Amino acid sequence: MRQPEEKIQVFANALLNARQQVGQCKTCFHLSAENECEICKSEKRQKELLCVVADSRDLIALERTREYKGLYHVLGGLISPMDGMTPEMLNISTLITRVNNEHTKEVILALTPSVEGDTTSLYLAGLLRPFTKVSRIAYGLPVGSELEYADEITLTRALEGRRSMN
Ligand SMILES: [Zn+2]
Repeated sequence: MRQPEEKIQVFANALLNARQQVGQCKTCFHLSAENECEICKSEKRQKELLCVVADSRDLIALERTREYKGLYHVLGGLISPMDGMTPEMLNISTLITRVNNEHTKEVILALTPSVEGDTTSLYLAGLLRPFTKVSRIAYGLPVGSELEYADEITLTRALEGRRSMN
């Protein structure tokens, strides 16, 4: 919210263009020019950690902290019955498959503290609990705040202070 509107508009347009031209990573659904994104291809990432975000903007915000070294999974939105957004419209089945195939030790839900974010987190925790540890970032993020506008320190604290949902 502290960012000037024009700046956000420019960024949003750049992202939209990128999306149209670039496409998505086949594994995590992050924006990527290639079949698989740099993060999924990297040997340096911790493969046993999987962070779930609503969209690529939130992923970029978390990458800015330089604290998180695991992998990501981009849902493509949040569950919102009011807006006609159902779980089937999100990248959820691919998430379950990944958790099973990649032997993920922990899934970190990094979704906004809003009604949609809470609904989606509870839904995913219910699905993932039998397979792995599930946690949710919380500390320091004001209710209803957009992840992508949170500063690096707030996001780092939110990651460190994640709470178990098992
Ligand atoms: Zn990827």
